[in-house]
Amino acid sequence: MTSAMRLVGRFLMLVGLLLCSPLAAQEQAGSMVSIQGALTDGNAEKAQFILDVSEPVGFSVFALQDPYRLVIDLPDMDFEMEQGMGLVERAMVQNFRFGRFGHAGSRVVLDLAGPTKVERAYILPAVDGNPVRLVFNLEAVSDREFAEQSLRDVIRIGADGKPQTGPLVKAPAAPVAEKEEGDTRPLIVLDPGHGGIDTGAVSNKVQESKVVLSFAKSLKKALEAEGQFRILLTRDTDLFISLSKRVAFAQEHKANLFLSIHADIVREHYVRGATVYTLSERASDAVAHKLAQQENRSDLIAGLEIDQSDDVVADILIDLTRRETANHSALYSRTLVGALKASIRLSKTPERSAGFRVLKAPDIPSVLLELGYLSNKEDRADLLSKEWREKAIKSIVKSINGFFARRSVQSSALFVPSKG
Ligand SMILES: [Zn+2]
Repeated sequence: MTSAMRLVGRFLMLVGLLLCSPLAAQEQAGSMVSIQGALTDGNAEKAQFILDVSEPVGFSVFALQDPYRLVIDLPDMDFEMEQGMGLVERAMVQNFRFGRFGHAGSRVVLDLAGPTKVERAYILPAVDGNPVRLVFNLEAVSDREFAEQSLRDVIRIGADGKPQTGPLVKAPAAPVAEKEEGDTRPLIVLDPGHGGIDTGAVSNKVQESKVVLSFAKSLKKALEAEGQFRILLTRDTDLFISLSKRVAFAQEHKANLFLSIHADIVREHYVRGATVYTLSERASDAVAHKLAQQENRSDLIAGLEIDQSDDVVADILIDLTRRETANHSALYSRTLVGALKASIRLSKTPERSAGFRVLKAPDIPSVLLELGYLSNKEDRADLLSKEWREKAIKSIVKSINGFFARRSVQSSALFVPSKG
């Protein structure tokens, strides 16, 4: 590493530290190890990726393809740096992101220019005023070489710096739902999009994952105040949950309605307003198609392997349960749009459909609500405004009341419980 490079890195680290208010972080840090900075060096053939940490910590690292990524798993960490800091141009490491992953760990994901092998990974003790460092030496390899290394060629290093076998990070414990015996009220699962390592859209420092989380929490409170529903959130903190786990969560708890909440960005900054999406094999239009693709990237961003066959929402309307569910999703979508129309601004085509993975539960009516576009100045202001949120929440509560009221009026056969 050249000294100039080091200087730039240190400077960027300082900027990162200042931006992240290290004092506040230190005050609440407790026993959590922190990552204080990142450096990349090298060229397209060989590269080094370095994480500065407050004390030695165990980690594991493995590579993925489609697209090429490197995934570093760590225990729960404090991140005291900016996303993507310390990157150099034209290098093998094109970008990286970090954040909480699941309930018991953190993750750093590197986007790589091509097939790459971890030549060596180790812990460098604190020397010469430098902090402890986790060092990853990377080497470009051919596609064949990449394929030959088992994709699970995981390198595991303990906090003592020695290679380990077995998992370093304990399997995350999922939150347990509290259901009181005999509580037959309908269960609504609210799903704040993104979280943790997947920040979702970011516009003018406003982060989708945070906006939708706080909105979902307020909506939960408002719905609970109605007294007629049980409400669960797929996540109630800033952590990553895969799309399939969100669906599985709703299914395990036998939800009666699944509402995923988002606030994305589009290239056309003038586009604004709320939109409700349902699942369909073929997208209703190009915008819906693009948005579903963007949303379905969540797992990829977080360094998960994607089951490509899962991309196609094939034969979705074939079996009866699915058709039944699709009808109810459509009914709720219409009800929601009708209620929102009275209080907030809607997009030009407020009812759309596409192949969203998160809406794939075959037995639970599911919709995805885009509250507005973070890319639009007015929408962004709305999303942060208490008054606007209250109006939107009131309408959503109304739509859910309306939806379940229709259910009780219509025949009980309408809501076929999932079999098995
Ligand atoms: Zn989103």
